[in-house]
Amino acid sequence: MIKVEEALATIEANSTKMPTKYIQASKALGYVLAEKVISPINMPPFRQSAMDGYAFTHSIRHQYDVVGISQAGDHSNVKLKATEAIRIFTGAFIPDNADTVVMQEHVMATKDSILIATMPEKSANVRLKGEQIAKDDIVFEANTLITPAAIGFLACLGITEIEVYKKPKVAILVTGNELTEPGKKLKKGKIFESNSVMLKAALQTIGIEKAKVYRVKDNLKATKKALKDILEKYDIVLISGGISVGDYDFVKEALLQNEVEELFYKINQKPGKPMFFGSKNDTLVFALPGNPASSLTNFYIYVYPAVKNRMGFSNAHLSKIVRKLDNDIVNNTGKTLFLKALYNETSVEILDGQSSAMLNSFAVANGLVIVPEDVENIKKGESVTILPID
Ligand code: AMP
Ligand code: MG
Repeated sequence: MIKVEEALATIEANSTKMPTKYIQASKALGYVLAEKVISPINMPPFRQSAMDGYAFTHSIRHQYDVVGISQAGDHSNVKLKATEAIRIFTGAFIPDNADTVVMQEHVMATKDSILIATMPEKSANVRLKGEQIAKDDIVFEANTLITPAAIGFLACLGITEIEVYKKPKVAILVTGNELTEPGKKLKKGKIFESNSVMLKAALQTIGIEKAKVYRVKDNLKATKKALKDILEKYDIVLISGGISVGDYDFVKEALLQNEVEELFYKINQKPGKPMFFGSKNDTLVFALPGNPASSLTNFYIYVYPAVKNRMGFSNAHLSKIVRKLDNDIVNNTGKTLFLKALYNETSVEILDGQSSAMLNSFAVANGLVIVPEDVENIKKGESVTILPID
């Protein structure tokens, strides 16, 4: 049995980044950059007006003749005299010898002249060439997540292709004779299978949209056969159940017989102790406990950072926050506890229903409170560390 920190370090050491590929920038949402991106242009490419108004050369003068128009998309570089202005609109090219734009609300205009009522500062309402980014500057460093705004910015620079880490292909192998797919009739002695849908949803939160689900009965031969195929095809394999010490738990044996290298088995924590982590070639295998709350806890603590590491994120772990406890905590287990909790701006409440079989509290929790294995008591009002999961 190993400590939580050792388990995390082992996973980190084995979660190598995926190979890279070039993809259309417009389709890269949720991918992570493998290479820094350099801007091919200045943005804006030319000096632009930030307002609808009039462009002129700043002076003490308030009265100007309006000698032309610059609409967005135009490029008429009129030579303005000191007494002249042009009508201009947001985003339009500013003639080289104008240095200021006055917004139209601040002038009194006749057909061909303006009187500036409120004089703007010199250079007001002028977007400078390259003020967002200059040509050849770094747009994004490697390991940046592509968000909708990032896709917008790349498009705005005319960048259509980027190099990203491939997303890992993930399989979920569900074990258990007792399991029935939701939607089917529940026979006596059976329960509905919830881990695969839950893990699929959890994977979606980190950008793994598809995970393929396989199912086997509690049978060594069937488990071994299913795994042989899965291990060849996927980068990350999550297995649900069958990893404990019961007479019908065959997952560990099936993994070892498929030459998966055992990196650890069992972690000193509650819930989620019976977990196996191993690898074969570049494929990572997480055999998660069948109990739903254990399964999801271990997803957040171990699978989440491993998937994110493989996806190329530079900071793969859930971020932590600190809040004051609303209740006392007693830990006489000698294990690290991960407690389902509800936190707000200032405090955190430990929820009833911490059993590893129960999802009712998890379903309304927004965080997991971490109680280290060597901490026996934490009193109401003391600070605790939380992994937000909302
Ligand atoms: P196991 O780890 O296979 O011994 O399963 C532990 C407990 O979790 C048992 O009560 C199982 O019925 C339950 N369980 C296992 N797999 C699932 C699943 N996919 N969905 C819901 N409950 C499960
Ligand atoms: Mg089972």
